[in-house]
Amino acid sequence: MKLFADMHVHSKFSIDGTSTMEEYCLTAEKTGSRIICFTEHVDFNSMEKNLSIIKDNRTQNFVVDDYFCEINRLRKKYSSLTLLSGIEFSEPHLFPHEFAKYCAYPFDCITAGIHHCNNAVFPGARNLPVTEALDEYYNIMLKTVELGGFQVLAHLDFPRLFFDSWEIDSGLLDKILSKVVQQNIVLEVNTSSIHNSHDEPMPSYSIIERYRQLGGKKIVLGSDAHCTKDFSNQFKIITQKLSNRFQIGYIRKRIFCPLEDK
Ligand SMILES: [Zn+2]
Ligand SMILES: [Zn+2]
Repeated sequence: MKLFADMHVHSKFSIDGTSTMEEYCLTAEKTGSRIICFTEHVDFNSMEKNLSIIKDNRTQNFVVDDYFCEINRLRKKYSSLTLLSGIEFSEPHLFPHEFAKYCAYPFDCITAGIHHCNNAVFPGARNLPVTEALDEYYNIMLKTVELGGFQVLAHLDFPRLFFDSWEIDSGLLDKILSKVVQQNIVLEVNTSSIHNSHDEPMPSYSIIERYRQLGGKKIVLGSDAHCTKDFSNQFKIITQKLSNRFQIGYIRKRIFCPLEDK
């Protein structure tokens, strides 16, 4: 049986997650996704307060001790599953002290995601023309990958969800991907875009192929599920498309492990 690992899942420990960790475990028992990483949001961007659902700092749901306590309880109860711990930290280069503090916890996987641009959640508050918004977004991403210190880069071409036209400057893209390879960061293939009426994951197949051309081999799959119905969305199809050219795996104790069939 093909084994899957969903390396990007938000439970109720994330401010916008609506399913509990245990509900994901019950779902996973019925699927081939036996490995789950709960990557809860850790976000210090003050602009998050502009979101209607968020009244306070986005970390308000995320009490690290409670999080580990629940994972440990579920590890005992669902021993056929591998439950990994993680965070999705937003724009780590802007919050180096907070980032270091969270990296000091024993999470299996630190994922970095860029969600903001020109002082608001992408595409930002100033109604920038698409080319300027993209340029700003990817320059922020470049700074993050230059900083490094994390294992997975989430949803590289996230702006695709907001614009019909989302061509990235090829020079800037190559700089980001080369730095990802050099820093031994694993590229995430995020499938949340597929159930948002797009056909391709994030990043698109052409960017995934460019990553390979620049020396990238390792990928992880992430559904970015915020509820169980989206858990491991489209993993079978994506795995069929990519498994002959990439090593698909998961991160445990901050180390990439290839998936093996069982
Ligand atoms: Zn994200
Ligand atoms: Zn996420």
